[in-house]
Amino acid sequence: PARTRFAPSPTGYLHLGSLRTALFNYLLAKRTGGQFLLRIEDTDQKRTIPGAEQRLYDDLQWAGLNWDEGPVIGGPYGPYRQSERTALYQSHANDLISNGHAYRCFCSADRLDSIARHRSQAGLPPGYDRKCGDVSAEESEDRAAKGEAHIIRLKVEEYPMFNDLVYGKSGQNRPNNSKLDFIDRVYNDPVLIKSDGHPTYHLANVVDDHCMNITHVIRGTEWMPSTPMHMALYNAFKWTPPSFAHVPLLVDKSGQKLSKRNADIDLSSFRDQQGIFPSTLVNFAALLGWSHSEKSDVFSLKELEQIFNLKITRGNTVVSFEKLQFLQKGHVQRLAKSGGPEFDEMVKKVTSVVEESHPIDKLDTILKGRTLPEYIAPLIRADANNYTNAEEFAQRNSTFFTPKLDRTPYKPVSQSPEVPIQALHTAAAALTLVPSTSWNVDTHRDNINSYDGAESVVTSASESETPAGSNTAAKIFKKELYHYLRWALSASAPGPGISETMVVLGRDETLRRVQDAKA
Ligand code: GLU
Repeated sequence: PARTRFAPSPTGYLHLGSLRTALFNYLLAKRTGGQFLLRIEDTDQKRTIPGAEQRLYDDLQWAGLNWDEGPVIGGPYGPYRQSERTALYQSHANDLISNGHAYRCFCSADRLDSIARHRSQAGLPPGYDRKCGDVSAEESEDRAAKGEAHIIRLKVEEYPMFNDLVYGKSGQNRPNNSKLDFIDRVYNDPVLIKSDGHPTYHLANVVDDHCMNITHVIRGTEWMPSTPMHMALYNAFKWTPPSFAHVPLLVDKSGQKLSKRNADIDLSSFRDQQGIFPSTLVNFAALLGWSHSEKSDVFSLKELEQIFNLKITRGNTVVSFEKLQFLQKGHVQRLAKSGGPEFDEMVKKVTSVVEESHPIDKLDTILKGRTLPEYIAPLIRADANNYTNAEEFAQRNSTFFTPKLDRTPYKPVSQSPEVPIQALHTAAAALTLVPSTSWNVDTHRDNINSYDGAESVVTSASESETPAGSNTAAKIFKKELYHYLRWALSASAPGPGISETMVVLGRDETLRRVQDAKA
């Protein structure tokens, strides 16, 4: 069983990329019967955004990614907020000082700045000359005890390679000094503890992954350059590192990294502005760089939990938002069939949109004792194929909520041969004679299809010379009748099929509209 973690910093909100990272970690844990942890990496308090932590919780829960251990619920390896674990990082850094893998660096900020400046002017990568690496243990203890400001650095001899589960052998086996730097010794000895006593991301991250028994680290490729340093830390501690799987960057169609500007927007905009369902968004995120061998791309979270694996594509993932809309439709159709809380939520949203845009007292004539949600639920089921979000759906089906339809004069589809409107009125009236006990889609469909109106089709003199049999006349009539019913029942607006429309409207309202059309 895998123990995985999602380790966000509360410096922003969940967006598509971070949702995917959380999801992959969640899915691997679930697939293998393990645990998914949430850890808040708030070591950089200056960058923490107030309220971001709560938003992360809410967003993860909305998406259905409930953590097995973490803030709020706790767990055996807590606390799960790094700001509450400072002493642990300090004692681990001290252990490394004792065994010679780390050292205190007392260099002033000025000195470090001047090294950095000097190197950058010479076009060299940043580095440190390890001056304080030569300070004796006694002197180091002594100066620290006297309160001299310092940081703690890892003394790295070698940055090891690592085996990435997505990218294979990664990193470069290289000793920690660059050949370029023949003038002076230069090392990249990363900071573990900052001068304020707080750990850096690297130390806290490695200590926690070890202490929390994390087996797999799934994170974005932007962290890949840090991994050799993390490996050096695991080696210094003599710990077995977890497995790493770095997931590719999300880019738009032109290859640009997704950003706020090009739609790597935070979850609230998918949820609140676009009306995307959690199951849709999770499904969409799962397919970003992950491939499967199932027949369809539409998956619920539960289904993903059964089939997920680490077959993740290398190289940037191009995000197509058309796919999001496609999946949304897939999920609506599933929800419409299955019902459940997400369907109820959909009904609620459409209901509130309709309530806002239509005076409810006027709706009473249509509802006739039904509640608005009772009326809307079957409408959504009937027109699920066309549901994108509540606003568009209510707009598309607005005639269902319009007591007095504004019909333009009837325009037949077939001008010649012609079907007299009187025959259509008669047919519509006949169709509404069905008793309410058999007022259902099948009955209406059968009745419309078998209604014999061929007689009424008027062929002109020239047409009657062609061998237009009654079969053709029947076809013409039926086509015209469908067209007429859509005009009569919904003022020719798009919407569910005609038989479905009759069922959703109900017997009384259908009758009323048919009579109104005739008047
Ligand atoms: N705190 C890091 C972040 O915000 C975690 C990176 C990692 O998963 O190691 O992405």
